[in-house]
Amino acid sequence: MRLPLFDTHTHFDVPDFDQDREQLAYEAKEKGVEHLILIGFLHSRFNDLIQAHQFINQLDHAPKSHLAPGLHPFYIEEHRIEHLYALEHILQQHECIAIGEIGLDTFLTQHKALEMVQKQKDFFITQIELAKQFKKPILLHIRKSHADVLSILKQQKFQYGGIAHAFSGGIEEAKAFIKLGFKIGITGQITNPNAKKLQQVVQAIGADHVVLETDCPDMTPLCCQTSTEHRTRNTPVNLPYVLDGLAECLKMNRTQLAERVWWNSLKTFDLIS
Ligand SMILES: [Zn+2]
Repeated sequence: MRLPLFDTHTHFDVPDFDQDREQLAYEAKEKGVEHLILIGFLHSRFNDLIQAHQFINQLDHAPKSHLAPGLHPFYIEEHRIEHLYALEHILQQHECIAIGEIGLDTFLTQHKALEMVQKQKDFFITQIELAKQFKKPILLHIRKSHADVLSILKQQKFQYGGIAHAFSGGIEEAKAFIKLGFKIGITGQITNPNAKKLQQVVQAIGADHVVLETDCPDMTPLCCQTSTEHRTRNTPVNLPYVLDGLAECLKMNRTQLAERVWWNSLKTFDLIS
C-alpha cells in the first residue's frame, strides 16, 4: 500500500543523479514520497542545490522539494567566512525549510586537532545564530561529538528544533536531543540486523520522536544493495524500505507508523495547516 512519506534528508542534487533525477523523482512519488529535502554541505554546491530544487518543483507528479542550505562540519577545511554571507543571502532570497546540515564531526584524526574543532564550533554556532534570526529548524550532523553538540544547543538556547540526522548516539543522548525539541532521523541503517545500538535507541524512544530519511546517495538499505564490492547508489525511491525496517524494529503496524512519522515530519517543519 502506498503511504505518504517524507524524505527528510537527501543529497538528491549531487551529480550522481544528473542522468536520471527526473525519472527517479517520478518513481519516488509513485512510492508515496510526497516531500523531500535537499540538504546543503558546501558553498560550491549552493547553486546546483537551488537549481535541482527548482527543477524538481517544476515537474508534475514529483515529490515537493524543500531547501535546507548549510555548511557541513566534515568539509570544515573548505569553509570560508564569505560562505556564511552567501548562506545568509540564500536564506533571504529563497524559501528555506531549515538550515543543514550543520554540527560537529570529529571522526577523522585531522578533525580532532584543536584548531579544527574550534573552526567547526565557530561555523556551527554562527549557523545556529542564522537559524535563530530566520526562525528555522536545523538539521544536525553529529559524529563522535554528541555531548559537545548538546552543550552548544543549550548554551545557544536554541528553540526551533529540527532533526538529529542519521543518529549514531546512545539512548540517553537521543532523549537529550528530544528534550531540546529534536526528532531522531532514521536511515536505511535500521534495516541492518547488526545495527543493535540504533535498534535499541528506536525501541527506547518510540514512534513519536522519529522521522525517515534516505540520506541518498549514501546509506542504501541492506535489501537494496546489489553488490558488496561497489557502493550501491541510494535514491529517494528506497524510502519505503526505511519505513519497513522501522516498523519491524518497533513491531508496529506499517500504516499506523507511516501516519505517525508523517505527522512528526510536518510538525518539525511547521507544515501543518
Ligand atoms: Zn547528509
